[in-house]
Amino acid sequence: MVHSDPTGADSRPRILLAEDSQTSKAMLSKNLSESYQLIEAKDGEEAWQILAADEHIDVVITDVNMPRMTGQQLLVKIRKSPIARIASIPVIVMTAANDSVDKNLAFLNGANDFLTKPVDVMELQARVNVHYKLSRTIRELEESRRALVEQASTDPLTRLRNRRSFYEQGTQQVAAVKRYMGELSVLLIDIDHFKQVNDKFGHQAGDEVLVKVASLLGGIVRNGDVVARIGGEEFAVLLPETNRLGAAVLAERIRIRVEKAEIVTADARIRVTISIGMASFSAESVDTFDELLAVSDRRLYLAKNQGRNRICVNDEGKSRFA
Ligand code: GH3
Ligand code: MG
Ligand code: MG
Ligand code: MG
Repeated sequence: MVHSDPTGADSRPRILLAEDSQTSKAMLSKNLSESYQLIEAKDGEEAWQILAADEHIDVVITDVNMPRMTGQQLLVKIRKSPIARIASIPVIVMTAANDSVDKNLAFLNGANDFLTKPVDVMELQARVNVHYKLSRTIRELEESRRALVEQASTDPLTRLRNRRSFYEQGTQQVAAVKRYMGELSVLLIDIDHFKQVNDKFGHQAGDEVLVKVASLLGGIVRNGDVVARIGGEEFAVLLPETNRLGAAVLAERIRIRVEKAEIVTADARIRVTISIGMASFSAESVDTFDELLAVSDRRLYLAKNQGRNRICVNDEGKSRFA
């Protein structure tokens, strides 16, 4: 078969034809089944059911007057669908030559194109091809846009969020906390003496340590918490709806988890420790995300100064609340 690809999948555009008239359907089917996979529905209702079940329909061609559900009703249902694949599907409406009211209504209901009955098959094919290609291109653009957004917010080494995305999230969360009087805590995490890890085991092993620490962090937090790599060997965790007590408990759990982990690389077994500075929005006199970060950064510095491998929860350099 001309249209089959080597995998056996049919690469012809898949068209759903809703038409109650047998003669019209037979004529279209005869002329279209060469170039398209044609799925036939006897009315709008059946077309709607097929559309919901078949994820590979590319274009819908519909008659207007049909029993049970008209072409206009079908069109409205399609455009109102919460499923993007259905809502955005190209729909070509076949109207009678003298019916400009139907044409207007179909246009308002979101039809992509019209054909006048009796249908000129060449014209139908040309229009189907245009809409098929257009919708495929739009879909591809949408996919690459999504991939770019994803890439722009991801750290390539650890697959965690990057610094930019962390700031974006943090800024949004601070705005939400101020609006709804919620809570938000942040942990700044820095690997201790990481330079020595590189010096002793090599940069490659150092990278493996970063990946492992990232996955430990990702594995310990809750859904909705944001974990990011915000610098070379610096990580940060955003904890929505978490007060300073909850955040301190989590910070200590993270510290212990990392301390206990043995990171096995090709030719070494590596252990590292981390220091953590913590801040909670409601407990500090801060107004912005930047200020919240500055507080936790100050405490990270304290944790380092006091000997590393510890958390610091306040400006007195304490690792727990009295
Ligand atoms: P401290 O306990 O005070 O944090 O000591 P440290 O050695 O961890 O801190 P310092 O800031 O002096 O050194 C950070 C090191 O992290 C230096 C740099 O070579 C290393 N580093 C930064 N980014 C990467 C990376 O992507 N991969 C690897 N392997 N190393 C990195
Ligand atoms: Mg009809
Ligand atoms: Mg550092
Ligand atoms: Mg460090």
